[in-house]
Amino acid sequence: MSEGKKLALVTGASRGLGAAIAKTLAKDGYLVALNFASNEAKALELKTEIEKSGGSAVLAKFDVSKSAEVDASLEELSKAHGPIAVLVANAGITIDALLMRMKDEDLDRTLDVDLKGAIYCVRAASRGMMKARSGSVILISSVVGEMGNAGQSAYAAAKAGLIGFAKSVAKELASRNIRCNVVAPGYIATDMTGALTEAQKEAILRGIPLGSFGSPDDVSEAVRFLASPGARYITGQVLGVNGGMYI
Ligand code: NAP
Repeated sequence: MSEGKKLALVTGASRGLGAAIAKTLAKDGYLVALNFASNEAKALELKTEIEKSGGSAVLAKFDVSKSAEVDASLEELSKAHGPIAVLVANAGITIDALLMRMKDEDLDRTLDVDLKGAIYCVRAASRGMMKARSGSVILISSVVGEMGNAGQSAYAAAKAGLIGFAKSVAKELASRNIRCNVVAPGYIATDMTGALTEAQKEAILRGIPLGSFGSPDDVSEAVRFLASPGARYITGQVLGVNGGMYI
């Protein structure tokens, strides 16, 4: 049953961190809109899993990097289910390359999805939040946006950009009771990190004081807190979930 539930939109919810965040918010009683780009089968599987455990979810297929698609999809969602109470801008990609070998199209795609995609979603969701005079926006950045990483300069630029964007939005929308915070995960075991070689994983582990990769639930618990009334006085902050990798 979804009547009376507040709406939470999680972008990139078909897999990885987004799927864990969606499950956690569904447990907290939100109707969760599961966004994805192409992986409809995975998103549908997750919807079924959430519903089997007593939660509510709807699918929301759109490409976050297409501003018109974002606007139309968010308007449709709000018409059907009310204003977005919680937006988690999580969808992201990484196309790694050393600066000298970075291709224009890869740079554009990274910025389009990771930075502009989040901005489009926040802009569209903020319309309903402003009317409702309430909302919580959580952007999923990365430890790489805070400390940099050789071979990931485009990704780092996008993820660092999210932090400046969040701080500005926090200042701009605070008077409407809309909070905007960032969660910056370190290395978390998902498809994205699955592409690392064993040697790369070992090198990364040496730089993590708590001695292991994180789990998607480590991130979803941070998001749960920032979305909750317990975080009502917290805005414009970056919460690192990184095992001490960046302090
Ligand atoms: P993932 O397993 O690769 O999943 C990426 C998700 O984003 C998928 O649901 C994918 O949908 C969606 N997506 C990609 N492009 C999209 C687009 N244009 N429009 C809509 N959805 C799109 O990634 P992850 O590891 O869970 O990472 C999630 C977020 O956390 C990303 O922003 C990433 O940068 C950040 N992060 C991850 C880590 C980590 O260690 N894993 C660390 C720091 C930050 P489809 O399934 O349809 O392709």
